[in-house]
Amino acid sequence: MSIFLDKKLESLEPYTPGEQPEQGKYIKLNTNENPYFPSKYAIDTVDKQQLEKLRLYSDPDSRELSAVIAAYYGVNVENVLTTNGSDEALAFCFSAFCGHGAVFPDITYGFYKVFAGLFGVGYSEIPLADDFTVDVRPYLDCGKTVILANPNAQTGILLGRDEIERIIKSNPRNAVVIDEAYVDFGGQSLIPLIKKYNNLVVVQTFSKSRSLAGARVGFAVADKELIGDLKRVKFSFNPYNVNRISGALAAEAMRDKKYFSECVGKIIENREKLSDGLRRAGFEVLPSTANFILAKNCKTGGRELYESLKNEGILVRHFPDRRINDYIRITVGKEEECVALLEKIRKITEA
Ligand SMILES: *Cc1c(COP(=O)(O)O)cnc(C)c1O
Repeated sequence: MSIFLDKKLESLEPYTPGEQPEQGKYIKLNTNENPYFPSKYAIDTVDKQQLEKLRLYSDPDSRELSAVIAAYYGVNVENVLTTNGSDEALAFCFSAFCGHGAVFPDITYGFYKVFAGLFGVGYSEIPLADDFTVDVRPYLDCGKTVILANPNAQTGILLGRDEIERIIKSNPRNAVVIDEAYVDFGGQSLIPLIKKYNNLVVVQTFSKSRSLAGARVGFAVADKELIGDLKRVKFSFNPYNVNRISGALAAEAMRDKKYFSECVGKIIENREKLSDGLRRAGFEVLPSTANFILAKNCKTGGRELYESLKNEGILVRHFPDRRINDYIRITVGKEEECVALLEKIRKITEA
């Protein structure tokens, strides 16, 4: 830290992203990327003409992409804000809606805490139940902005729509932000509920189910007044937040519904096979509705499993949080990657 750093930021603990090693060095199952290529229509849209247009700023309202998202979910364009990754949408929510503080689970996406720190938002972490499900009671009428990933990050467990609706209804004076980064892998989006509740914000990303993590595109869907608030923040920070190429890629990826369902279908199939295989190898596996699995083995610690797998050329994620310290988080890859992982796991745990 230099002597110039603002005192306010001295205690900030930045987010630690998963390792991004040199290409090809590992079977990479550590950051929940999609193992399949982006839609070929998305790839084909980036031609010389698109590149030449880079001399012009991108559309600050991302009208084309916003219209595609709105049509996909049956909402109006005024209900959509596109962002530079969904991390930016979440950052805007922390900046715009957390004047009374925020609440989120103790085990969830690590960035929530970091955003709270950056924007000076007071927060409390509500422990997940012993089986890692969300107990909704502490969130009811809580007087703070509720932030929930659904399915939840790190656990993959999905919370039912009725339960979330109870939270939304009981907090009419606060926003409820539902981060649906993994919803396409078996959940049902709550986006239709924005017509019923003016305090609901749903955040989604193109990074996971649409294979565009490197393009950095996300979005928020909400009542148009809330979207107006988020735009207020965006236009005070970075009006051209979605670049031309990424906006075009995302629009085509969302139009290609056929390829999307194929990829998602394969990942769900691979997830179920991998979960079965791990259970047969003596692992405890949380029931995941996401493109990753949280699993533990009673003999080998999480850190040790992570290290051993890394030595065997497979990268998974380990979190030092006390409650999930024994677990590893495995991104569901292609079928052959899952097979390779199971093979190495057997080798390690049977040694
Ligand atoms: C991956 C992830 C995000 C962020 O994705 P972006 O790449 O910034 O769109 C947000 N929330 C959760 C829970 C995630 O796992």
